[in-house]
Amino acid sequence: MIKRVLLGAFLLSPSFSCAGVAPGQAIEAPLPADPPPSVANASAPQQRTRIVMLGTGTPNADPDRSGSAIAIVVDQTPYLIDCGTGLVRRAAAAQRKGIAPLAAENLRHLFITHLHSDHTLGLADLLLTPWILGRKEPLEIYGPPGTREMADHILEAYRQDINIRTSGLEGANTKGCTANVHEFQPGTIYQDANVTVRAFPVRHGSWPHAFGFRFETPDRTIVISGDTVPCQSLIENAQGCDVLIHEVYSQAGLERRPPSWQRYHSAFHTSAPQLAEIAKKVKPQLLILYHQLLWGTPEEDLLNEIRETYQGQVTSAHDLDIY
Ligand SMILES: [Zn+2]
Ligand SMILES: [Zn+2]
Repeated sequence: MIKRVLLGAFLLSPSFSCAGVAPGQAIEAPLPADPPPSVANASAPQQRTRIVMLGTGTPNADPDRSGSAIAIVVDQTPYLIDCGTGLVRRAAAAQRKGIAPLAAENLRHLFITHLHSDHTLGLADLLLTPWILGRKEPLEIYGPPGTREMADHILEAYRQDINIRTSGLEGANTKGCTANVHEFQPGTIYQDANVTVRAFPVRHGSWPHAFGFRFETPDRTIVISGDTVPCQSLIENAQGCDVLIHEVYSQAGLERRPPSWQRYHSAFHTSAPQLAEIAKKVKPQLLILYHQLLWGTPEEDLLNEIRETYQGQVTSAHDLDIY
């Protein structure tokens, strides 16, 4: 909790000095190795654009970390990035703690980085649950090639449920359980009064289509890596951003993995020392770690793998953290 109070103060006031703490050092008391899901601090950042970490997890079935999902909330409008397991309930938890725009019926815009299951297992939930709870508009989905096929198959799989709910006593509307799918190529993929979204390609092993996103809002620029190895495209597209949200694995943890898994992770993901080099080139005001693969490494040690060579502000996110 100390972390979030201090971080909130830091973000509210760019001139905030971290009580004599030098850049690159901890701005909070060390967290325990496996903290429970943190609660959203509704009194923290009061800026127009808020980042809510709905799921910071990976394919691992960690009960404290839901599947990958982030909400960028601009005033009253939420924009979701990825839809891992549990995101609708995490959004409800954030709403309960004061982020009112994350009410289920407001979950209407989704941007998918790539189609790996840990980033998309919540798509059925996001298509159906907000509709059952009152959403009247289609879900607008922006995703890589293959997204339409995935959405179509999910809706077909739930055809009996949709029929019962729309034709029976529930009297559910027929629009809120549909999707408008926009399969995109790199470039500006979305724009409205709140936000401009740019998609850029990243390198995620053998995936033919994997993207990061740059969100520009009236008061913040936020870049999300998605899943990737270090790549020049991210460094170029993240220049000048306020916040870089990046996936990471612990180098010490990797060295305890079997050789076959070491080969896989090296080809698909980014180590903490590699991320430190990326951050030195991007120079974000704040680096947020998510999708952390720790393999038993204490979270503070993961942060130290970054701090060995990167002196900027860095924090390791948990579900329901707000920035
Ligand atoms: Zn992933
Ligand atoms: Zn992935």
